[in-house]
Amino acid sequence: MPEPVDLSGIHRELDTLKRAVCHCQLRGECLGCKGIEMVRQQLEAVVAAASQPVLLQVAQETAAKEMLTQFGQMQERLMDDPQMRQAADAVRERLMGDPDARRMIEELMQRLGGQDGGPEPDQQE
Ligand SMILES: [Zn+2]
Repeated sequence: MPEPVDLSGIHRELDTLKRAVCHCQLRGECLGCKGIEMVRQQLEAVVAAASQPVLLQVAQETAAKEMLTQFGQMQERLMDDPQMRQAADAVRERLMGDPDARRMIEELMQRLGGQDGGPEPDQQE
């Protein structure tokens, strides 16, 4: 049985980022709130998918691919806002700096057949 991954640090990170980028007093109305909550949902979807047994059901694969597509679209929207861009970069760095999260994402990518266009870690300089 795979060990449950502790995401509390990442959730705290997301909360901090949300406060930093929010323009609506955390009412969930601004792009900052929506973006962060979307990241949170995607993260949980990735974790849920990655903790499934190796034999993924077709429905799960479809859901995972859809998630990746949404993630890409979300990133495109976020990139229009310099502040959100910083926040998104910070989240990604945080994720990629977490060995467990990184391993899960990499495993998921492999299971999905290494499709193009997915979120990939930037080269570390
Ligand atoms: Zn807000």
